[in-house]
Amino acid sequence: MRQQAQRIGMLGGTFDPIHLGHLRSAVEVHEALSLDQLHMIPAQQPPLRGQPQVSPEQRLALLKAGIGDTPGLVADDRELRRDGPSYSIDTLTELRTEYGEQTRLIMVIGHDAFMRLTHWHQPERLFAFAHLVVIARPGYSDSLPAPLTELVAHREVDNVAALMQRPSGSFLSLELPSRMAISATYIRERLAQGKNVRYLVPPPVEQTITHLGLYQKRE
Ligand code: ATP
Repeated sequence: MRQQAQRIGMLGGTFDPIHLGHLRSAVEVHEALSLDQLHMIPAQQPPLRGQPQVSPEQRLALLKAGIGDTPGLVADDRELRRDGPSYSIDTLTELRTEYGEQTRLIMVIGHDAFMRLTHWHQPERLFAFAHLVVIARPGYSDSLPAPLTELVAHREVDNVAALMQRPSGSFLSLELPSRMAISATYIRERLAQGKNVRYLVPPPVEQTITHLGLYQKRE
């Protein structure tokens, strides 16, 4: 029997659509942190960006198709079942209640999302519920603005074992082995131009997009 506390990760996003940059990062972060499960959670109404191009249900269907039977990854629709804006702090509160106080709860975000963290709803409260792990993403290497440096000051650890010492409250920067310069924006642009997205998304996602005619430019 496993003696150590459970390790649960959360990777939120618009997933408009899910792509191999998300999925390979999810698999590698699952491995690097020895997670029991990584919840991939599509946002209903992303508070900091415009309306997504396809419905939340379609984004969820694409996410499920993308994950398939990948061990340790789960498509979690809790934010789609909640009314109003999708605040990560509410999601972390729910996960903490479900998994209990000793579970190591880890919020995973890419470097680009991290750069906007101080604009999120109550960012300072995140650390009461979870650790924060930021993953490097090609094309995003800006140095941290002062309010962000302040937010993570005294929380930074430099390895996974140190992060897992306690249930929440620490910050770790991770460089995963496969860094992929794939973005959902690029995929939407290509589809709107009638171009293929082969090997940017898993085959079942490509098939669903084609089958439902998603992201095509409407005249
Ligand atoms: P868009 O281009 O529409 O802004 P995106 O590709 O950045 O979308 P999101 O759904 O906004 O995708 O991202 C969800 C999370 O996954 C964010 O934390 C983001 O930083 C991270 N992420 C997205 N793409 C990658 C990638 N290629 N490598 C690592 N992390 C990524």
